[in-house]
Amino acid sequence: MSNFKHYIDGIKNGEVFFNEAFKLNFFLNALCVINAIYAILFFSFDLRYLGMISVAGAIYFQLLRLLIQKGAYRTIIHAAVIEVWLFSAATDVILGRGCSFSILIISSIPAIFYFALTWGVYKKKELVSFLLSLVVMTEYTLLYVYDLIHPAEIIRVKEYMRIVFTGYNFAVAFFVIIGFLMLLHWDMSQKTTSLSHKNVALNMEANRDALTGLFNRRYMNLQLEEKLQLLHQEGRIFGVIICDIDNFKKVNDTFGHESGDDVLVNAARVLMSSLRENDVVCRWGGEEFLIAIDGNKKITVDVAERIRGMIEDMVVVSHGYTIKITMTFGVCESIPGLSIDKIVEIADERLYAGKQNGKNQVVSDS
Ligand code: GH3
Ligand code: MG
Ligand code: MG
Repeated sequence: MSNFKHYIDGIKNGEVFFNEAFKLNFFLNALCVINAIYAILFFSFDLRYLGMISVAGAIYFQLLRLLIQKGAYRTIIHAAVIEVWLFSAATDVILGRGCSFSILIISSIPAIFYFALTWGVYKKKELVSFLLSLVVMTEYTLLYVYDLIHPAEIIRVKEYMRIVFTGYNFAVAFFVIIGFLMLLHWDMSQKTTSLSHKNVALNMEANRDALTGLFNRRYMNLQLEEKLQLLHQEGRIFGVIICDIDNFKKVNDTFGHESGDDVLVNAARVLMSSLRENDVVCRWGGEEFLIAIDGNKKITVDVAERIRGMIEDMVVVSHGYTIKITMTFGVCESIPGLSIDKIVEIADERLYAGKQNGKNQVVSDS
């Protein structure tokens, strides 16, 4: 049962995709069953010719299924719709208005819109939907006028038969109309969902570094500009940490580039795990990371110290090697009037000073 619910959710979310051939197969089979029920009704009311027409209709829809493999979707749709139009017109004239067969013609409008708008079978979708709907309404009007001129039906059926036909025709029309409107809605929302999934994925890719999964420099620059704005508008101070892996070239040279990559990925994980919700970390360059901390200098230095310790304690096991690294940190607090470039430059100078001074340390003063 939960599997079934999962499946239905999948359909709604656009994860389960029924292709057009599958849907056409379903529609043609449904039309076949509807016709078979007409045949049963006609035969049981002793309307043998109409019964035979309905049997022929059921066979006709089965034969149309053979065209699915050929991909002749448009032909199938036209052939099916025309059959419905002819059948409803004929039965309406033969059995009279009272049996309500003409409602079937109206029910083809949502189907026309569904196929035209979502299947891409026509170039001028809106125009075709409009014109075909006009054909439907014209046919309906003509039948109405015909009934006014020739009110007497060709075959007169009993009152209870009229009620049965009307009930069945209304039920068929109801399910066809609601069914196609729901399908139209589902197909449209599937398209929107898959588009928005693609958009999210594209945005993710555009903002992320492929190796570490951290944000990239482009995204960080946007975030820093936003933080600068908040600083000016609301006085919300932030700190910037630039950190760089010490002697990383040696890591690559000793253990190989792939192990170097593993070290980067693991270091990124440590950085990410040590931050709070509003802090942002990015891969600023090769083995350099930039972190924006919501808080003053003391808070920023504390975070940098904590990360320094965690990196020092980190053990990376890669390709049979056990690798340990350290990092050096340059910290700068945001001060109103300083540009992002200037803040980063100061942090960078402090990082450089830390490198000169023996590495594996946090430098927060010039
Ligand atoms: P320092 O302590 O002064 O920072 O020395 P360092 O060796 O870390 O710095 P240097 O700038 O001399 O070398 C950085 C190295 O980082 C060189 C470069 O090949 C390596 N590197 C940059 N990006 C990547 C990467 O994506 N993967 C790997 N494996 N190595 C990288
Ligand atoms: Mg380095
Ligand atoms: Mg570097």
